[in-house]
Amino acid sequence: MFDSLVGNDEVKTFLKNELRQEKSSGTYLFYGKRGSSLMEFALAFAKALNCPVLEGDFCDQCPVCKKISSLNYADLEVMGEDGGVKIDQVRDLIYKASSSSYEGRKKVFILKDVNRMRKEAANALLKEVEEPQKNTFFILLSNSLNIIPTIISRSIVVEIKKPTNEELGVSREEYDFFIGNIEDIRKYKNGEYTISRELNYMEIGGSISKFLETGDLGAKIDIFCCIEDFVKNIKLLNDLQKLRFAKSVSKSVKNRVFIEELLYYIILKVRDIKKTEKLLDIKSSIGFNVNLDLALNVFFLTI
Ligand SMILES: [Zn+2]
Repeated sequence: MFDSLVGNDEVKTFLKNELRQEKSSGTYLFYGKRGSSLMEFALAFAKALNCPVLEGDFCDQCPVCKKISSLNYADLEVMGEDGGVKIDQVRDLIYKASSSSYEGRKKVFILKDVNRMRKEAANALLKEVEEPQKNTFFILLSNSLNIIPTIISRSIVVEIKKPTNEELGVSREEYDFFIGNIEDIRKYKNGEYTISRELNYMEIGGSISKFLETGDLGAKIDIFCCIEDFVKNIKLLNDLQKLRFAKSVSKSVKNRVFIEELLYYIILKVRDIKKTEKLLDIKSSIGFNVNLDLALNVFFLTI
């Protein structure tokens, strides 16, 4: 049920109200900072649109709700996992949106990282989300409102706020360590992890490789601990040492989305208002075709 989601009471009331109107189609834009539960709310809404047990809410127990939770529902499509939806995926989506529903209820398309979409893909999508066909719902997810304005104006815009540390049941220190990322905090609470490991910043390469291999939160915590050590020592490091750090990052990972996340974490940890804008610009440039090593060098020399 919506009540089981953490925080965002106004959003829950709003969505329940939307459901009560029994609309036959719709386009929603859920936006919120990184680490806010955009996907969780999108899936909750998809369930509520389809759950045969509860009206205007979802039970989370029936086969439909369970299939949606595990992303196995035939009428649910989640796209844009890795850096926004691409133009060929939009074409695929248009085809799927025009074919009839498998499960006989509502078709739901969840599009992640809409703010990362290229212009031509966004324009192709626009035609589709402008007037969705009957029984078709689009839920666009974005970390910012920096997307083509026509998409915003065609959507019902819903801001999803990050829950506070009290709402998540962790201390302020634990919350800040995970920069309020709800998924990480959940895993942390359900596992046996410690966030006070002392690691040298140069161990970051190994930690990244381990995380990419296992996806384990423990390895992610190690990455964060290395970053804490780096930030703590930043004033003592010379350019060469900073470049060495940049090298150990670029050697261990090539995935641009991952690197952007990593740099975002570092920017929040550095907390230098004068440099924030420049650092954010460099971070964003990685989403485009800039030379990765060069961008990382500039980033770490700027800090
Ligand atoms: Zn259900």
